[in-house]
Amino acid sequence: MKDDNSQANGGEPPADHCTQFLKEFLSAGRGYWRDVPDADWNDWHWQLKHRITTPEQLQRFMPTLLPEEFAGAKLANHKLALAITPYFFNLIDPADEHCPIRRQVIPRIEETRTAPWEMSDPCGEDSHSPVPGLVHRYPDRVLFLVTDRCAAYCRYCTRSRLVSNASGYDFHPEFDRQIAYIAQHPEIRDVLLSGGDPLLLSDEKLEQLLGRLRAIKHVEFLRIGSRIPTFLPQRITPELCAMLKKFHPLFMSIHSNHPRELTTEVRDALGRLADAGIPLGNQSVLLKHVNDNAAVMKAHVQKLLMCRVKPYYIYQCDLISGSAHLRASVRQGIEIMTQLRGHTTGYAVPQYVIDAPGGGGKVPINPDYVLSHNADRVVLRNYEGKIFEYPEAPDGTPTSKPPKEIEKPELV
Ligand code: SF4
Repeated sequence: MKDDNSQANGGEPPADHCTQFLKEFLSAGRGYWRDVPDADWNDWHWQLKHRITTPEQLQRFMPTLLPEEFAGAKLANHKLALAITPYFFNLIDPADEHCPIRRQVIPRIEETRTAPWEMSDPCGEDSHSPVPGLVHRYPDRVLFLVTDRCAAYCRYCTRSRLVSNASGYDFHPEFDRQIAYIAQHPEIRDVLLSGGDPLLLSDEKLEQLLGRLRAIKHVEFLRIGSRIPTFLPQRITPELCAMLKKFHPLFMSIHSNHPRELTTEVRDALGRLADAGIPLGNQSVLLKHVNDNAAVMKAHVQKLLMCRVKPYYIYQCDLISGSAHLRASVRQGIEIMTQLRGHTTGYAVPQYVIDAPGGGGKVPINPDYVLSHNADRVVLRNYEGKIFEYPEAPDGTPTSKPPKEIEKPELV
């Protein structure tokens, strides 16, 4: 799973043949675990039990571990635990210190440095939490946190204060109280299960929870946010899919950041979810030297469509403590959107957002396509940089004056 993508050369786009290579579906392979029987390797419980969780294991499996990574791994258990499934570990290129998979899951000493503008709860979730484990920030929907555990831990996690319990948050969701709050608030029509990762619950527990939510008449729509399809595709069993399909309309937001995460194993797991009628969207976080590159992002969104997943959001990395080394610029995010919009299938273009620091919610960020707008007309720029004029109609009906392409916009 080696590629010579751009990231080591300061974000320069990779050559076309490399982009094409990124879109190939490859297996993660077995690596160090080549002697493990198939039945074990394909068992999600085995994968969880054999996760890499200590600096010593990391060094043993990856002798090229850098001193700053070893030091980061040593301190991780005081902040956000280290855990990587054997399956996902195999995607790391040990020879490449800039490997985009490596940067997502291997701690670095920089995580212990907090910039003045960084926070432990950058989205202000705790201040919008009417009962433990429930975030009610938008009027008609809630975030239902079901667990503080994940299959592996992303080093940029917005909820690192909570997940893995390394920093002593002591998260204890109380499903009865969470469900009672939803039942008492008829304005809540949409419940997003998240965490931690809801798919770490057993099928039985998840079924019980979904059943209780479905029994609330005003809950129209259920969603699950999960990184499991990319960290642990073995969890997406036919039995899980058969259970989930009983609770439609049920959507799933998966999380992947780089095309190399979309392996044959992941494609097959996503296919099983899609076959169960579950609409799939992907959320990516814009990360420095991981996917802050238009060519890499384009390969990623196109590959997602091949996996029957709609690219949904690209998030600007939240101001979580110790994440400066992973945060790409907003300028780069806008440039990537400029390179996607119009240059590839509309379905492949996600919405780039910044979760406004402190709890302001998601704010869409777009390149400027409206150059000016007054009572008479709108001046537009298309994806090729050409300028167009569209006549405005105060009553909402276009005038008879046809839209036309103009050479230069007049300043309005
Ligand atoms: S899977 Fe999600 S909740 Fe878990 S560490 Fe990664 S970003 Fe955080």
